[in-house]
Amino acid sequence: MTLPDDFAGREQLRASSAEFRREVIAVADGVFAAVGYSASNVTLIQGDDGSIIVDTSANPVDARAIMEAFGDRLRRPVRAIIYTHNHPDHSGGATAFAGADGPDIYSHRMLVEAGPEFGRGQRDGGDAFGTKLPDALFINAGTQLEYGRVTPHTREGFLPRTRTFSGDSETIEVAGARLQLIHTPGESPENIAVWIGAKRVLIPGDDVLKSYPNLSPIRGLKLRPPERWIASLDRMLALEADAMVQGHMRPVLGRDEVRRALTDYRDGISTVLDQTLAGIRQGRTPDELVQEVRLSPQLAASPYLQEYYGSVAWAVRGIYADYVGWFDGNATNLNPLPPAGRAARMIEMAGGPEAMLARARQAVETGDFQWGAELADCLLALDPADAAARQLKARALTELGERQLNATARNYYLTTAQFLEGSA
Ligand SMILES: [Zn+2]
Repeated sequence: MTLPDDFAGREQLRASSAEFRREVIAVADGVFAAVGYSASNVTLIQGDDGSIIVDTSANPVDARAIMEAFGDRLRRPVRAIIYTHNHPDHSGGATAFAGADGPDIYSHRMLVEAGPEFGRGQRDGGDAFGTKLPDALFINAGTQLEYGRVTPHTREGFLPRTRTFSGDSETIEVAGARLQLIHTPGESPENIAVWIGAKRVLIPGDDVLKSYPNLSPIRGLKLRPPERWIASLDRMLALEADAMVQGHMRPVLGRDEVRRALTDYRDGISTVLDQTLAGIRQGRTPDELVQEVRLSPQLAASPYLQEYYGSVAWAVRGIYADYVGWFDGNATNLNPLPPAGRAARMIEMAGGPEAMLARARQAVETGDFQWGAELADCLLALDPADAAARQLKARALTELGERQLNATARNYYLTTAQFLEGSA
């Protein structure tokens, strides 16, 4: 028996962790990015009589490590803190940076409460961030080294905003530095880009990452509207920045490279949107479209579009659901059999539960892992406690997880496998 021995994706993912090595990087005169100390990056802008901090890392513990790494480059007082968006890994360390300085806290006004995250009840322990995976199984969280594994994300280091704007952009002057805050909805609806015109440095928040964008997160979020994201990227392109400090991973340096990153990112979103909409108009179903929609070879090779975090296939499904709803157009699927009713018929066709289990085992042992998981699901639809079926599904998911480039998929597969094996 031969197993597909393709671990190239996993090894590429492992190598991507080099993006998170700890370093304070001078991106321009008086502008420093702290990378790898927390789930997200922190940018320090030196002003005439104090400092400005853009994003604050995930918690006060990380924030203090970053302050130490900045050393005397962090000139007190901190006059302003800017949140590019509301995600807890960017806004959780504010108290540490503020100290007793009483800085103004800037953001877009849209940032009111913790985002519109709905979140579905956890099924089988699945977790896209791999928060509880054992170290031996964990590689990274896609665009960050880890998300709440070491120090849990709390809101204790969050400071409420004192200066917000509701329009398209606002120019502020703090400590002699002139900054433009630009509303650039993308990864989050409230995202702002910070443009330091005098230094030609762009801080795009999470609108640009060195990964295919997570347009339709599996953790239970609405589609992040692609048209608005594309428009935001066009707007950032027009600035012609010389350096870019994204919310995660290492900065992009040099005007040509920044232009390339922004262009690839925009084109990576727009080609998937265009192909999916064209397919919808031709009556293609989501299951068909994920087989057909592809990045061009040139985009697929871009270092900014590797599928470490977001996935083209999941973007296709998210766009489909957002534009035309849940129904795939096939009348059979208007009122499908319930899972147990379907499974009972499948098992009967296979020759009974023992025969079905044998088929599932054979599939896993011959490398047909997805099919093995689907057959195990038939047994679990009738009896969720079926120990042999749980074990087999766990094996199938582990094999699938180990072959992923995508950290989100890997973490979800492996966490679910641990749960099914009873070791989570
Ligand atoms: Zn982020």
